[in-house]
Amino acid sequence: MPALLGCIADDLTGGTDLSGILVNNGMRTVQMIGLPEGPWPANADAVVVALKSRTIPVDDAVTESLAALRWLQAAGCLQYYFKYCSTFDSTPRGNIGPVAEALMDALGTEFTIACSAFPATRRTIYQGYLFVNGVLLNESGMQDHPLTPMKDANLVRVLQQQTRRKVGLVDYGAVSGGSVAIAERFARLRREECELAIVDAISDSDLTEIGAAAAELTLVTGGSGLAQGLPQNFRRRGLLNASAVADETSVMGGFKAVIAGSCSAATRNQVDAMRARHPAFRVDPLALAKGDDVVGAAGEWAAARVGAAPVLVYATATPEEVQSTQATLGVEKSAALVEQALAAIAEKLVALGVGQLIVAGGETSGAVLHALGVKRLTIGREIDPGVPWTTTMLEKPKRQPLALALKSGNFGSPDFFLKAWAKLAPTA
Ligand code: ADP
Repeated sequence: MPALLGCIADDLTGGTDLSGILVNNGMRTVQMIGLPEGPWPANADAVVVALKSRTIPVDDAVTESLAALRWLQAAGCLQYYFKYCSTFDSTPRGNIGPVAEALMDALGTEFTIACSAFPATRRTIYQGYLFVNGVLLNESGMQDHPLTPMKDANLVRVLQQQTRRKVGLVDYGAVSGGSVAIAERFARLRREECELAIVDAISDSDLTEIGAAAAELTLVTGGSGLAQGLPQNFRRRGLLNASAVADETSVMGGFKAVIAGSCSAATRNQVDAMRARHPAFRVDPLALAKGDDVVGAAGEWAAARVGAAPVLVYATATPEEVQSTQATLGVEKSAALVEQALAAIAEKLVALGVGQLIVAGGETSGAVLHALGVKRLTIGREIDPGVPWTTTMLEKPKRQPLALALKSGNFGSPDFFLKAWAKLAPTA
């Protein structure tokens, strides 16, 4: 099968979210961690290259995105997708506008869309204004974000500040008319010399219509929701295989473990639910700072327990505990100490035969993938919205398959760590 959709995501868990949506809609998807090497993976309809480019300097984001694009172009993808956050996380300098512009130049295309709407997670766009959980973006809490404060909900204005190209709007009047009306609006905007268009969307069916209208666009940009509407275009052309779910048979044998580095509310509940049922080891940041061999102790503890039942290793703590630790050690130092320790413990668990591993926390997931040397993930079944099982082949300490679920801190139901294993089943 040809390479159909080449995606560039500006962060790791956003990339997994996008990959999960593509799989749910019938595309076999592989996620690459950082710039890919080697050829397009066999049996993949889509590849998502997950960068860490959301908040890095604009020039670096452009350079890395173009490098990812070159790899995707070498595979001859039929369409390209630039994925960013559904809350349009950016500053007046970028990085959404400059990256989109650079991708357009490199692809030689003069028109693309920007649609971060994701109605299932209550991100909707109406008359160009982005609503988050029913309120305007700049009243949603995002106005106080430490790195990308969003103080204006009008995405036409926000994007226009970031680009030299003219930004237009496909308003709800056109979107509610369906794919033909939307495509006509694209054509009109192009005649008016608009090169980027914010697109309104308030429901999943809007995204389906927008996706159909975008069939001929070389590049689309948006959140992960926009991806719902694209697979239908390839299916219509007979380019998609019937069965898209990855075969996970190879990872069925390994032991089960959870590593939790997130302190978000959802993860705290999930840790409590798991501790009540299974052995759990707590990683104490203050002990790490003192130089205690916490990693060694966790390894010995796990060696005596893995196998019979899932085990949990966690640094998860209440907001008060985290604040007090941060007051003693500093925010960055406590985060780095915990991330490094959990990543080293992940290596020990894998060496002990753990083959099914759940990691809670975005930064924590990044640290664990780095320590394990994971460069690509094949996306499998969804456990909860936004969190699929994935599989990978480890190269060290020996070649062995590993199933990984990377859970963004606030995702998942309270019983996530208990129920996730049952979803990891061989293809029927
Ligand atoms: P989330 O997805 O919930 O944001 P992350 O893993 O991205 O989770 O971020 C959580 C951060 O908190 C990590 O840097 C982690 O190392 C740090 N952390 C975890 N436990 C503690 C703790 N007990 N005290 C201080 N920091 C902690």
